[in-house]
Amino acid sequence: MQALTNKAKQVSRKPMSFMERMYLPAIFKGMMITFSHIFKKKPTINYPEKKRPFSPVFRGLQILNRDEEGRENCTACGLCAVACPAEAITMEAAERQVGEEHLYKEEKYAAKYEINMLRCIFCGLCEDACPKDAIYLSETFTPADYQRKQFIYDKNDLLIPHPKENPDAYSKALGNRPKRESVN
Ligand code: SF4
Ligand code: SF4
Repeated sequence: MQALTNKAKQVSRKPMSFMERMYLPAIFKGMMITFSHIFKKKPTINYPEKKRPFSPVFRGLQILNRDEEGRENCTACGLCAVACPAEAITMEAAERQVGEEHLYKEEKYAAKYEINMLRCIFCGLCEDACPKDAIYLSETFTPADYQRKQFIYDKNDLLIPHPKENPDAYSKALGNRPKRESVN
């Protein structure tokens, strides 16, 4: 019969010898291979205790950014939603009221901001489109879950911790991200 590839090997049908029937040489050979790996460098790590460094171009879970005062950067312009090829972003804009200047940086803000993580392809176009440095993709995975509705992330899930109220969590969320100036 003609072989489709040249990888086919002829199977040996000759009867096994006495040594082969004992299987000991084969077991010994296998154990030698196992022992030889004990002294080699492990290709695996003990996740989650140890974590590999992310690639500089890794794009993970989105973060809604604040400025140094803790005010939300987002001005609900909708450019991220327009740029999103997966139509994963929805938002509702609201006007900033007198006395809310410490909460929102711009006169308009996102009263509601949602990302459907089941649609998101982590392309980073929302970050590229944003003129206010209000959204970026962090070095964090989207955690696994059993229910689809848990993957609709709202503002509470996406907002970076307040830099003055929770500076440690803020720095951790910021990671190694270089500071970017927003366009005013
Ligand atoms: S990363 Fe891409 S797919 Fe995900 S929300 Fe942003 S633009 Fe949409
Ligand atoms: S995240 Fe940026 S692009 Fe999206 S609505 Fe807010 S300011 Fe506009």
